[in-house]
Amino acid sequence: MATFDYAPAPESPAIVDIQPSYGLYIGGEMVDPIDGSRFKTVNPATEEVLSEVAAAGPTDVDRALAAARAAYDGTWSRLSGRDRGKYLYRLARLVQERARELAVLESIDNGKPIRESRDVDVPLVAAHFFYYAGWADKLGYAGFGPDPRPLGVAAQVIPWNFPLLMLAWKIAPALACGNTVVLKPAETTPLSALAFADICRQADLPPGVVNIITGAGDTGRALVEHPGVDKVAFTGSTEVGRQIARSVAGTRKKTTLELGGKAANVVFDDAPLDQAVEGIVNGIFFNQGHVCCAGSRLLVQESVADELLDRLKRRLGTLRLGDPLDKNTDIGAINSAEQLDKIRMLSEVGESEGAERWSPPCDLPDRGFWFPPTVFTGVSQSHRIAREEIFGPVLSVLTFRTPAEAIDKANNTPYGLSAGVWTDKGSRILWMAQKLRAGVVWANTFNRFDPASPFGGYKESGFGREGGRHGLAGYLDV
Ligand code: NDP
Repeated sequence: MATFDYAPAPESPAIVDIQPSYGLYIGGEMVDPIDGSRFKTVNPATEEVLSEVAAAGPTDVDRALAAARAAYDGTWSRLSGRDRGKYLYRLARLVQERARELAVLESIDNGKPIRESRDVDVPLVAAHFFYYAGWADKLGYAGFGPDPRPLGVAAQVIPWNFPLLMLAWKIAPALACGNTVVLKPAETTPLSALAFADICRQADLPPGVVNIITGAGDTGRALVEHPGVDKVAFTGSTEVGRQIARSVAGTRKKTTLELGGKAANVVFDDAPLDQAVEGIVNGIFFNQGHVCCAGSRLLVQESVADELLDRLKRRLGTLRLGDPLDKNTDIGAINSAEQLDKIRMLSEVGESEGAERWSPPCDLPDRGFWFPPTVFTGVSQSHRIAREEIFGPVLSVLTFRTPAEAIDKANNTPYGLSAGVWTDKGSRILWMAQKLRAGVVWANTFNRFDPASPFGGYKESGFGREGGRHGLAGYLDV
């Protein structure tokens, strides 16, 4: 698939020490589940079983929430912001110290290329802890009154696409504000959260401030529906987000939901096309397209569409798909067999609805879950591949003629998480940013994340913001 061959450059997995089985991290200790069962987590690039993990049952959820409540009442809510900040700085530094191990572990359990886990996920995890450590003793200056109070115990449920990064987005602001947490990682990617449990132990975090309970959807449901919860923070599918919204309705639980997306990446005829091509590739093929804010709909101005697509296809021919631990790999494995089925199904629907499917020549490994980078042209707004979140390396291309048409098409979606604009004109960027109904609008770039910048959606992409000063509001009684 590449223009020329690179010698293999695999990162050694020897740095990670995956145990054959794991318990639950409750009250500062790894404990066996009381009424739960066990499940296996596999390496999606090889289908090899990595470890056996506990699925917490209702009694385990009770126990984790009791530990979080005791830690909230007994220590964490009584500590000064300065002292909470010290712990957060310690967590941030430990993440940095163990960065290589965490990156390898994340790539093994999730399937994402080491280049991304090493250069994007793990550095951003440390950055989030550093950033919110800085807020812990300055909450009185954040614009929420002189002495904003924490909420109590937070139930946090996260998905599999950025396992450790989503953990950081949830835990760092919660702790900075004085809350304690029970977090459930996704069923297919529990290992980096369990490594983080070890980091909490290493940091001497008071027992019960962070509790990690593994399990599937049932564990997540038991956690968010539990009466001992003051705050629910969820990232995942819109469907589960709806169920959670129903379950918290009428309760006092404060809730933030970060759900799906179908972002438009809009390229005007005055855009620097080679840069736009890089942005399109980063927008939809980063993390195999398992990104809620992925630029999955390319809207290109008709006059440059042919030229842009030629350049894009040439560029896709140079992407390397394969071993996630190889430093030259651009596209890793699809996270699970279920997700691969969903991507295949929606791609077949795209063809049957009349769109034209294209992939570069690409050898897929024999074992594991793989899908080649794919581009659909001739897509119309009514096609399912233009409306539904595919959550895979699949780009749907539409064209437009005028800026007004670009806005209409970009906003013609039930979602509203992110968007991208590529143009030479600053005034057009500002005009577009005002009209696009999306929580984040990137200009002449895509998929850039910074802990200081709020992130969240409109419409079916959810509500509430994570990151930045805005991210504090979700964890304070304001
Ligand atoms: P889910 O929304 O089902 O999973 C997200 C998290 O919620 C996981 O930890 C999951 O556990 C948990 N969960 C599942 N059901 C419940 C429930 N009823 N109550 C509380 N927690 C629950 O996403 P999927 O992994 O099933 O992915 C399905 C689709 O969702 C994808 O194809 C993609 O389109 C979209 N998605 C969007 C994401 C985003 O960031 N916007 C992230 C992930 C997926 P478990 O892992 O055990 O199922």
